[in-house]
Amino acid sequence: MKNSKYALDLKDFLEDKKTAEFHIRDYLHFPNLLLSEEGFQGDFHIHLLVSWVEEKILLSGSIEGEVETTCVRCADPALFHLQTSFTIPVVGVAKDQEMDLEDDEVIYLEHNLLDVEQIIRENIILSVPLSVLCQEDCLGLCPVCGQNRNLGQCACQQETTDIRMEGFQEKLSRLLKEMVVKEESASTQKEDVQVSKK
Ligand SMILES: [Zn+2]
Ligand SMILES: [Zn+2]
Repeated sequence: MKNSKYALDLKDFLEDKKTAEFHIRDYLHFPNLLLSEEGFQGDFHIHLLVSWVEEKILLSGSIEGEVETTCVRCADPALFHLQTSFTIPVVGVAKDQEMDLEDDEVIYLEHNLLDVEQIIRENIILSVPLSVLCQEDCLGLCPVCGQNRNLGQCACQQETTDIRMEGFQEKLSRLLKEMVVKEESASTQKEDVQVSKK
């Protein structure tokens, strides 16, 4: 389904040869992207300017929006501010001419209409970072119980630390005891030897 919002009518622009400005505001969804399984979505403000540059037509666009996604560490909601811009040549297509859609370095003008949806979606996707965090120092999830560590330490984490410390202290005291026993027996043997020498 084509979204008519993105079909810019350039009839007047082609006649008066001045510039044409468009503003599109749209809430866009980008599901199933590498960023996260849920992808991302956001409220985007898109400004477009179509202008003549040396008898050729150029489309310039700037896109800005607050993007909602999920944190790569803890899966909680995460936000980031997207801002990007692009410029692409516009190529006219005659009514009986077949569209060569393989060239994505240009955008086609068909019967006075410029469909900008694909170029806008592509530019948004290209300016999304590979990983977004809910906060810079997100602690992520506990690998054992899956609790969000940003909300507090989980019980299993506390336990493992305690068990490790207890084990270490036990070992240490056993080692110390053994050392004392060895020293004692060594000195007793020495005494014994001395005694037997006499
Ligand atoms: Zn997080
Ligand atoms: Zn845990």
